Amino acid sequence: MKEVIDPQELRALASTARRQGRSVELVPTMGALHAGHLALVEAARKPAALIVMSLFVNPTQFGPGEDFDRYPRSLDADRRLAADAGVNLLFTPEVATMYPAPQQVWVEPQGLGEVLEGRRRPGHFTGVCTVVAKLFNLVQPDSAYFGQKDGQQLIVIRAMVRDLAFPVSIVEVPTVRESDGLALSSRNVYLTSEQRAQAAAISRGLQCGTEAVRHGERTPQKIEDLVRRVIERDAPLGEIDYVSLVRSDTLEAIEHDLHSDAMLAAAVSFGRTRLIDNLQIRIDGDHLTIH
Ligand code: AMP
Repeated sequence: MKEVIDPQELRALASTARRQGRSVELVPTMGALHAGHLALVEAARKPAALIVMSLFVNPTQFGPGEDFDRYPRSLDADRRLAADAGVNLLFTPEVATMYPAPQQVWVEPQGLGEVLEGRRRPGHFTGVCTVVAKLFNLVQPDSAYFGQKDGQQLIVIRAMVRDLAFPVSIVEVPTVRESDGLALSSRNVYLTSEQRAQAAAISRGLQCGTEAVRHGERTPQKIEDLVRRVIERDAPLGEIDYVSLVRSDTLEAIEHDLHSDAMLAAAVSFGRTRLIDNLQIRIDGDHLTIH
């Protein structure tokens, strides 16, 4: 595995691989790697591919008072995990090289970026889209891999690619979970053991909500209430920020009956640690898929 910190060197290496007929696969991360990140690399593996992983804690997607300074950083362990997983090129830039001058042009996702996470974290998705757009322009990948775990992020990135005509295909990778259902996240290390035990209630609640859908429940309010009740019952240390059933194309709240593809999403804070999770509901006539 080769490691580069210079964006122009990254561009040159990706471009050489492309000229040699290799496909270029990009896995963007903020590091503190866990099995969820490695599942993205696994999905990116194909013959003769150059797998590029970026590892960059992007300051512009953190708001004031958020955890940018204390975000877990474990570069040595990340290098080993990335190499073992099959990453060919690790990009670990400094903030000053990704943002060499005060940023004057931003990629801002309008309404999609203002609901759910965006409501609590104004500007978050502008930071995400801007850094992902930079990475796409530097690497010019054939495909880029994102986790379902950050469901809104995936929807926003897909919209950016469509609306700005990026020649990149976006691949969604299913959420990797602990054995009790908690979605893996770099932020899980912040949890005390008591909070950690209770945090599994988030996925349990979402499961309970989608189970009801499976059994015919279609009223958003009732589905959301079921999720809330499980989280309130099993995670008294958690504070629910939202439990929302939204359309998976527009992220608008589903007002009446559920009859189109939807995302059941939740955000819960344990002390200063905010965790998110979601399940996707696909409705195709009478056929229902939940994942
Ligand atoms: P992050 O380093 O948290 O910004 O995440 C980098 C990428 O890994 C994003 O596309 C995330 O959605 C994805 N990811 C994070 N956690 C998981 C997980 N538990 N399962 C699958 N993908 C994940």
